[in-house]
Amino acid sequence: MFKNIRNHFPILSRQVNGKPLVYLDNAATVQKPASVIAAVEQYYNEFNSNVHRGVHTLSQQATDMFEQSREKVKQFINAEHSHEIIFTKGTTESINLAASSFAKRFFKPEDEVIISCMEHHANIVPWHLLKEQYGIILKIIPIDENGDLQMDVYKNLLSERTKLVSISHISNVLGTINPVKEIIEIAHSKNVPVLVDGAQGIKSCMIDVQQLDCDFYCFSGHKIYAPMGIGILYGKEKWLDKIPPYQGGGEMIEEVTFEKTTFNRLPFKFEAGTPNVGGAIGLAKALDFITDCGLENMIVHEDELLQYATQKLQTIDGIKIIGTAKEKAAVISFLLDNHHPADVGTLLDMMGIAIRTGHHCAQPLIDSLNIPGTARISFAVYNNFEDIDIFINALQKAKLMLS
Ligand code: PMP
Repeated sequence: MFKNIRNHFPILSRQVNGKPLVYLDNAATVQKPASVIAAVEQYYNEFNSNVHRGVHTLSQQATDMFEQSREKVKQFINAEHSHEIIFTKGTTESINLAASSFAKRFFKPEDEVIISCMEHHANIVPWHLLKEQYGIILKIIPIDENGDLQMDVYKNLLSERTKLVSISHISNVLGTINPVKEIIEIAHSKNVPVLVDGAQGIKSCMIDVQQLDCDFYCFSGHKIYAPMGIGILYGKEKWLDKIPPYQGGGEMIEEVTFEKTTFNRLPFKFEAGTPNVGGAIGLAKALDFITDCGLENMIVHEDELLQYATQKLQTIDGIKIIGTAKEKAAVISFLLDNHHPADVGTLLDMMGIAIRTGHHCAQPLIDSLNIPGTARISFAVYNNFEDIDIFINALQKAKLMLS
């Protein structure tokens, strides 16, 4: 599988600015294997129909495929029940859903939510919206100079006012893999539930939500080889049963009169309107792809790339790596001399190399580090040592051009 892995990804054969594409922006989104693209195309060619409401054959077939995808996600993350798997647009919608429904049921003024210094805006802004609405207080776990969470501070932040801990599994800027199991154990010892932003974690860790014992786990399909516009909110049944719906509309109802609505059972209570059926089918195919490769093999491969690229980067004068945690995923943020990351990114793009630059939707973290942003490379299964050699060569050229 691994030997010819690049052949599975049609986009990798294209050129960018006259050079073969070297795609190193995988923390933003990963490319799609041909099998996923074909599954989505086949759905629209042969099965397109609305789900759950039709008696006709197409609708039943589409419903079966959609529900099989839910079952596949359940197995992939080892949830106890398939009705704990809610289809959403992606991580952002999953966090917004969980946060606002949880808030409606449980938040009172002065209640506290703990997040960390390294959160993506998707795990900050929803809490700001709720702060205005419910008068809650946000507490922030700081990081140390390597980009590790200060766990002793975390322990002290937990109080009888803490209603929820909401934490990223892996930082999309620093690459830090947070000790989520320990974070959850500590929170649970004080009866505080934990939401995990798994946008980066789902690709770089083996996820077993029962073993982790997280209360919510959120991720996006597009970061694990599936189409954009499909994602997952996993929630423990005991929470999903207690919290109210997020949006109202079709699918999520049991009965509607002009006076009132009663709600459908899980998971449909949280899936108002026509879902992204093609996306869900693409997600199922992406999980098949991962299973065929073996997620463990993929993680090992990406870790080898991480070690190699880190070592190579350190040979270039003027490189500063931002984020040196012991447990790190295949994400490297860096600065080159005092050049603006955007200039570095633009020059690399001219050489066919796609990297990301800027604040990576983690402005508070970037501000706390007192830097203008970073340049970031991140790997997926189809990257290889040659990609890194080409990148390092190009970076050396960019350094010369900028100085
Ligand atoms: N959290 C983290 C840690 C992320 O890396 C991302 C995507 N960059 C998100 C949340 C948001 O994901 P999405 O845009 O797919 O909703």
